[in-house]
Amino acid sequence: MKKLLIYPTTRALRNKRDEFAGTQGFVPSLMSMGKFEQRAILLPDRVKVDSLKRILFLRDAASFDDFSQLKFDRDIIKFFTRSDSIFRFFEELTAEGISFEQLSRADAYAEFAQHLQILKRLFDNYHNILQAKALSDKAFIPLYYKINEGFISNYDQIEIYLEGYLSRFEIAILQEISKKTKLIIHYTTSRFNTKMQERFKEIGIELGNNLHTTFNLSDQKVLSSTQNSDTIDAKVYSVNERTEQIALAFTQIEEMTKSGIAPQDIVLILPDESFKEQFMLFDTHHNLNYAMGYDYRNEPKYKSLEAIYRYWQSFDLSQIEKLQRYGISPQELQRYDGQKSITIKDFFLFVDDMGLLDDRDEIQVAKDEFERVFSDNIITLKEWLFIWLKKLDKISIDDVRGGKITVMGVLETRGVAFDGVVIVDFNEGIVPASSAKDQFLNSQVRAFAGLPTRSDRESLQKQYYKRLLEQSKKSVIIYSTSDNKLPSKFLYELGLPDASEVVIQTNILYDQPSQITPPKDPVIDDFDAKAITWSASRLKTYLECKRKYYYRYIQKIPAKDDNEINEGAFLHRLLELLHQDRDSYSSSEEIEKEISILMDGLLGEDSSIKMRYQKMLWSDKLKGYAKAQAQHFKSGWRVIEKEREFISKIDGLNFKGRIDRIDQNGSKALVIDYKSGSTKDAQKSKNLDTLTEFQMSIYAHLLGDRYQNINFAFLKILEDGEIEEIKLLDEKNEQLHKVLDNLKTTKSFIATKSESLQPCRYCEYALMCGRGGYG
Ligand code: SF4
Repeated sequence: MKKLLIYPTTRALRNKRDEFAGTQGFVPSLMSMGKFEQRAILLPDRVKVDSLKRILFLRDAASFDDFSQLKFDRDIIKFFTRSDSIFRFFEELTAEGISFEQLSRADAYAEFAQHLQILKRLFDNYHNILQAKALSDKAFIPLYYKINEGFISNYDQIEIYLEGYLSRFEIAILQEISKKTKLIIHYTTSRFNTKMQERFKEIGIELGNNLHTTFNLSDQKVLSSTQNSDTIDAKVYSVNERTEQIALAFTQIEEMTKSGIAPQDIVLILPDESFKEQFMLFDTHHNLNYAMGYDYRNEPKYKSLEAIYRYWQSFDLSQIEKLQRYGISPQELQRYDGQKSITIKDFFLFVDDMGLLDDRDEIQVAKDEFERVFSDNIITLKEWLFIWLKKLDKISIDDVRGGKITVMGVLETRGVAFDGVVIVDFNEGIVPASSAKDQFLNSQVRAFAGLPTRSDRESLQKQYYKRLLEQSKKSVIIYSTSDNKLPSKFLYELGLPDASEVVIQTNILYDQPSQITPPKDPVIDDFDAKAITWSASRLKTYLECKRKYYYRYIQKIPAKDDNEINEGAFLHRLLELLHQDRDSYSSSEEIEKEISILMDGLLGEDSSIKMRYQKMLWSDKLKGYAKAQAQHFKSGWRVIEKEREFISKIDGLNFKGRIDRIDQNGSKALVIDYKSGSTKDAQKSKNLDTLTEFQMSIYAHLLGDRYQNINFAFLKILEDGEIEEIKLLDEKNEQLHKVLDNLKTTKSFIATKSESLQPCRYCEYALMCGRGGYG
């Protein structure tokens, strides 16, 4: 006898194949339910429409005035995002054999009357478009299908191991097949799949509850029925933080293996599959094997394409930074116009040009399909990019690392059993997952019209969990209580005990050697101080931290621009302008008034509260400065130079700099450096061999010959304009010579990190060098 056995998923099928592989003699044919449904019917003279192209057809079908009342934007990008719900709605209606007229009757209060009319028109338009092209879509299969008799006649008996739900259309197909060959169904009933039991009752097969049943659809007879006596013996744990579940899950899996369960007989269920990213992070020994694969959308190439799309959406600064982070230059991108209409071929030329075309098989197959389907469409580059990202969104890359413990979502567990089961996230709203809200009907109308309701769908998921737990030898359920999350009520429906709180061994997540191999300190072996033009700040950086010097001056990595107004630079500019045309002021009021006018000019029209506050704050802080400066000018000082640039040599090395200000009083000169911060480092008088601030010594060297009677001082702008003369200048000058001698003989150095953590406090490279954190 030729027998065909059908299982709910390809994984269940694989397991069965493995089982049969060891047996002798007759082996039946095996097939997954999905494949069987495809093979069992034919669509004469029609080709199935492509899943992306159909969106464009539906958009064409929606080009009538009333459509706007559905509040669906026809803009191609928005339409792409939301069209799924329309397709799902159409597919469900035809699969359940419910017409728009039946829906209208079920809509007793005519709540949805207008929308239903529009949807009906859309449905008809879409149908006509496909018909004209000899195409078909899932929603129209019930209208055109024929049973594939050639295929069915290959088998004397077909047996279906059913889990889950069959629509009325699927039942109708099975009934037709059952008339041509013997069709047996194996099914386990429970209070969670009563909807399916009702469906069988509609066709004359009454099944009791809580039974393992086998019935013959061909003659509608129940062949066997045994009580489901499987019980659930699960331990339930609650933890506080969601991530603590990871540590607990690993501990529990380890205990299961110690108790003798083979790792390949253990499954970890992630009701919210996005949690896998975190499990991947901590699964440093690659024990896990992700049945759902990796999402392509986490790959750098996808992220780069996404960054380009977002940049074209808004062109704002944060998007530019993101582009740069992915190594894409906004200048280079400017060669392309996102608004230009192009063909699909040109679009892929662009992706390739940007170096973002992946050569993995999955992506190349998708590209070929795209080029074929959209060969005669012309839309903008940005729109192509959006649609391509949508396509890539659905691609997952197989997990080939070969971990022995399987990680699954709950849907994939249909038809498979594991000895050890660990389920995390057993929280309300996640187990069962609340299904997406129906956009077009409410539950009441759905129920009246005979469509499955939200609670039917949720019950179905509960049935999957129940079967999985019932068939296991050991099971563990974990939920977290962070953010006031509640355990799933389903726990109580299963009659499981209260959760035990556990102390989590989070050390198993963190007590492992870092995966990052520390980079070696870079070696600079062609250093030549004479070939460099030095400045006081370059010298300071060199002396303070060789690594920072390496980042800034050798690698030329620009410091992060934080977009905040830099207080020091702003005040320097303000004071420079204050003396642009005036060498002195006669009163503090005059200085304050001029400062206020200049500040308005510099800060522009920005009248935000923050800016108003900033102006008031600085005006207030500069009052002391104005007073002290008025006094300074009264005693005869005049500004003779400001922002004076110089280039010169000191001990044979090139130096450049800019002196903030030089004042003169008779034969005396005063070199002034504005300071808005601390002068402590520059003024230090002990351990001069560790001095790094040589600004004043450099100025002294450059100006010493030019003025007879010269002094050097800091003008502390925000500390009442105090003028603080530089201490121990001769000793510091002496130290500068030593430092420069040393520099001249240095031919190479290792860019080590600074010994002291002091310079790291405000270092803009702290993150890069591993001494900083995300603020
Ligand atoms: S963080 Fe510290 S060690 Fe690293 S570059 Fe900056 S100053 Fe040097």
